[in-house]
Amino acid sequence: MILKSRYYKAEGIIIKSIKFGEGHKILTAYTKEFGRIEVTAFGSQKPKSKLANKTQLFNYVRFLLYHSHTKENEPFAVKEIEVLNYFDKIKEDYSRYIAASCIVEPVVKLIGREQQDVGIFKLILKSFYVLDVIEERKIIYLLIMYLVKLLSSMGYRFNLDLCAVCNSYLEGEIYADSFRGFPLCGRCKTANSLKLSNGAAKFISWAQNEEVFKSSKVTMELETLSNIKTALQKVYEFIFNKSLDGWKYFDNLETTANR
Ligand SMILES: [Zn+2]
Repeated sequence: MILKSRYYKAEGIIIKSIKFGEGHKILTAYTKEFGRIEVTAFGSQKPKSKLANKTQLFNYVRFLLYHSHTKENEPFAVKEIEVLNYFDKIKEDYSRYIAASCIVEPVVKLIGREQQDVGIFKLILKSFYVLDVIEERKIIYLLIMYLVKLLSSMGYRFNLDLCAVCNSYLEGEIYADSFRGFPLCGRCKTANSLKLSNGAAKFISWAQNEEVFKSSKVTMELETLSNIKTALQKVYEFIFNKSLDGWKYFDNLETTANR
């Protein structure tokens, strides 16, 4: 990214917030204009600061940012901030808050800094809007759909007709593996591969091409849900070679889905 001026407008979602020094915060935001950036919000940690409320985690905001260009890797500084949506329900409701954390975790951990990607920005934003209003028992479906679509947005689209290793036509059984990839045929699977149920394979294929608001219409057996979760976990491990903390919260959300 080449920056020339000192002031920038950007809109984005605050996906991480850490305390810094006396009364300051360093925010990570995923912005439409610059992708994932770090911004310093001076004074925002002080209880009476007007910025305290505006710089909360999961706010959708419009920034006026400043960059002096004098230091290497210097974060942007917040000059002005306007909140476009506080997503109150996400903050008040435990299941929604957990799901929002699961949505932003791969963005914080797996996506490079300052790479603009409007597709990813829109996916995160739409997912937050849906998460703010969706029925509680459907939250888990939004989340698995988002995780499939995040991969698609990053260029990982899966053709469930062909084995990713030997390229042969997939008839019948489909497998996912943390070391060999996805989708795999019966000959390319290993002892650690997961067999996908028909429902799980269909869902992944479907989710790649649908909008996240459709998650409010999804229903499935708990077994299929758990199969999809494990498959996605293997696919993410294969692609990024990193584990996410979010997977361990899935069980809580699955319980909600079953109510
Ligand atoms: Zn194969």
